[in-house]
Amino acid sequence: MSKVLIVAEHLDGQLNASTAKCVAAAQALSPEAIDIAVLAADPAAAAEQAARIEGVTRVLTVANAANEHAIAQVLAPQVAKLAADYSHVFGPSTTFGKDLMPCIAALLGVAQVSDIMAVEGSHTFKRPIYAGNAIITVEAPADQPVIATVRTASWSEAAQGGDATIEAVTVEAELPGHTRYVGLAAGDSDRPDLQSAKRVVSGGRGVGSSENFKIIFDFADKIGAAVGASRAAVDAGYVPNEMQVGQTGKIIAPELYIAVGISGAIQHLTGIKDAGTIVAINKDADSAIFEIADIGLVGDLFKVLPELEQALG
Ligand code: FAD
Repeated sequence: MSKVLIVAEHLDGQLNASTAKCVAAAQALSPEAIDIAVLAADPAAAAEQAARIEGVTRVLTVANAANEHAIAQVLAPQVAKLAADYSHVFGPSTTFGKDLMPCIAALLGVAQVSDIMAVEGSHTFKRPIYAGNAIITVEAPADQPVIATVRTASWSEAAQGGDATIEAVTVEAELPGHTRYVGLAAGDSDRPDLQSAKRVVSGGRGVGSSENFKIIFDFADKIGAAVGASRAAVDAGYVPNEMQVGQTGKIIAPELYIAVGISGAIQHLTGIKDAGTIVAINKDADSAIFEIADIGLVGDLFKVLPELEQALG
């Protein structure tokens, strides 16, 4: 019978929604137990949120000043110690998890299973390959712990309403000093987080300039959406890299995705495969984006967006 440990992703005492998605993936294993590890300087707030996720058995808190910032090299030896009691250790396939989980796998001497999108058995999983154009079934060795990242776009958050016990644990692990926290450079924005937003408006090369992107930001604010961009828009310097959606950017699954002035290159579409309703605004009726859009508006974005905004009142 499986026992799953999930490494919680959190920042400033707020649990990231990706943790509840990992719980959903863990539930698909019908395991004996699902525990969540919260490693932090002060894990109390994130642990409380983790305990409320349905299906969670225990929340293990590892309070250590060294865990103030999520440094993979510092967290990994601690999680590797905790892993001894588990058949599976899951983390989200966000930047956090993609950084941390391979370190844990390396310390345990096993190969990581990446990007789980479906669970077929305790050691058999489906994951995307070739930028999401094919799905492969992979089998992990049954005699080793499974260290895996969970493709957040493929799983809904496990429900709220749980009441797991919270236990403080001490982990004896040698922490490396070669990787230090220097600083966090993050965009300052009140908008929803791109990776977990229910609505996203993205702009492409068609927007034309950094100044013109204001029209995208204004429309997104009107409908309470996060803002994304194509790689062409990022490469042209219209917006920062962290906003890129696609194969080499963020893989997202909002309920509503509005692509504005984006042609629909396969590498962009990879990032929105699991989106609910896709709306495309493009002046070229033959643009590839219309092949996958649920709703298409052929027109000049500088005319269509203000009209839409006005219609929304
Ligand atoms: P374009 O293809 O130039 O399209 C601009 C669109 O805007 C056109 O369809 C045009 O009709 C429309 N338009 C212009 N003016 C207006 C207007 N006034 N009103 C309405 N519509 C207008 N791309 C990504 O997005 N994300 C990735 O992660 C990514 N990873 C990649 C990885 C690799 C290895 C490679 C090779 C490429 C990758 N790309 C990625 C790049 C991708 O191939 C495309 O080049 C890119 O997505 C194109 O961006 P775009 O649609 O904004 O630009």
